[in-house]
Amino acid sequence: MTKCCTVTLPTEMRDVKIQNYINGEWAAPSSGAYLKNYNPATGMEIAPIPDSKSADIDYAVHAAKSAFPMWSNMPGVERAAILNCIADLIDQNCNILATLESQDQGKTVASAAAIDIPKCAAYFRQFANYITEGIRETESSMKLVCTTSSINKLVPSSQRATTQHVASGVAALITPWNFPLLMVCEKLAPCIAVGNTCVIKPTELTSVTSYLLTHILQAAAVPKGVVNIVFGSGVNAGEPLVKHRDVRLISFTGGSVTGSKVGALAGGLFKRVSLELGGKCPSLVFSDCDLEYAITTHVRGAYQNQGEVCLSASRQYVQRDIYERFLDGFRQQVRQEVHVGDPANPATFYGPVVTKQHMEKVTSYIRLAQEEGATVEFLVNPKDSVTNVSTGGRLTIEGLEGGYFIAPTLITNVSQGSRVMQEEIFGPVVCVLPFDTEEEAVQLANDTQYGLGASVWTEDPEKLERVMRQINAGSVWGNNWLAWDDCMPFGGMGCSGTSREHGPWSLEFYTETKALYTHTV
Ligand code: NDP
Repeated sequence: MTKCCTVTLPTEMRDVKIQNYINGEWAAPSSGAYLKNYNPATGMEIAPIPDSKSADIDYAVHAAKSAFPMWSNMPGVERAAILNCIADLIDQNCNILATLESQDQGKTVASAAAIDIPKCAAYFRQFANYITEGIRETESSMKLVCTTSSINKLVPSSQRATTQHVASGVAALITPWNFPLLMVCEKLAPCIAVGNTCVIKPTELTSVTSYLLTHILQAAAVPKGVVNIVFGSGVNAGEPLVKHRDVRLISFTGGSVTGSKVGALAGGLFKRVSLELGGKCPSLVFSDCDLEYAITTHVRGAYQNQGEVCLSASRQYVQRDIYERFLDGFRQQVRQEVHVGDPANPATFYGPVVTKQHMEKVTSYIRLAQEEGATVEFLVNPKDSVTNVSTGGRLTIEGLEGGYFIAPTLITNVSQGSRVMQEEIFGPVVCVLPFDTEEEAVQLANDTQYGLGASVWTEDPEKLERVMRQINAGSVWGNNWLAWDDCMPFGGMGCSGTSREHGPWSLEFYTETKALYTHTV
């Protein structure tokens, strides 16, 4: 049985030297080239990223393929011990991981330490638990359905039918930058728990904590080749990974445009693919809701993690008779409680957005709303050290002048058809519009190409249930937002994705299901 070791991670960003992790060893990219990387709070360069290419991907997939027979045949209890060890090491290093995640991504250290990193450890424990309880080899539930059908007359009564779930082979895990380590662990834990091996390609924009994870994997005695991490761009490293003939399964989280490309490529090559994509999530606030609680939650829903949350409550519809009261309360609460600034300061609510390019994208949407004649308000907290607010909403923060900060932005008087209302901005920008009737509210919520999440706010339980059931989204909260349950399915409809993961749904996705028929005499 594995003995769980300790690990010493670098505590300062200057000591982080990112290398690929292939077959249990660290290696420079075959090209010898590195991509620049920046701390979004300062705009200063930090740990460069290997610019990996097809050759590195080939090497990593080969390592994963070679490790597959050993890993998939290892008893579940031994794999579970390794997963629990990874979880322990993540927990022990929570502060280091949270601090360096913040310096790489811009999120606050406090939120990374309270949410991202503990959840990473929790995923490994959850799936270690699943496999020690035994992966389901159950009587097929379809059998119950079939017994009443006429076709069942052809099935001999002496036949026993069971399902078997087997590991698929080499998986490709491709992740985005808003919850860097969390997204990697959310995929990695179920993937290797059930016996797959993998190659991870984190986004080049936030690679630091994935690199730190390689040290944890080694300390946890994950056998060579089971987990390989190749750093680099989507085009140079991500695409060759998707196309690689030895990759059987792809779990991708990212934007809908990239997801469409990945889905098309994977589908053409008969690979299993899970796409978790963007969102433009509505919330419907009825006049009979608990207004105070609704406002507090909508402030969080709009600005948590700089608004860089796929489930961000970015379209808020409020019933007309409480619309002005909602807006007044919202403005007041943001100006008093949302501090924007240094992500290392525990009092900061949100930090800089991830890159200069992303800041320019977000501010271009704000300028578009201004050009269209919408009302755009920058709800800057007077206590923050803001020395300038640009017309597009960029904040200059004293002492962090090179950082990519954006004001908490409120847009009203905008048309439902505007790109600002229809496209994912992925920043601290929220649009709030009024509605009159329940029917109109549902119609507005569903007027989108996305279908990831939504929330409904009313104290009337029948209306709550009725409206929640009519919204086309993978997750719908009633009188809450982002109250997570990792045993529930997660995924989107339409441009928000094609699949469901988490809990048993991840076990389903990361395994092949076989039907076994046994004739018993
Ligand atoms: P992108 O789609 O730009 O990138 C996602 C990943 O795909 C990155 O690792 C990227 O690499 C890689 N990639 C890019 N091009 C290709 C390609 N041709 N083939 C294979 N891989 C490729 O998304 P972002 O990183 O900008 O992430 C933000 C998006 O993610 C938002 O839309 C957000 O809503 C969504 N998201 C969805 C979640 C969900 O669960 N539904 C959760 C979190 C985020 P690189 O960046 O290095 O180029």
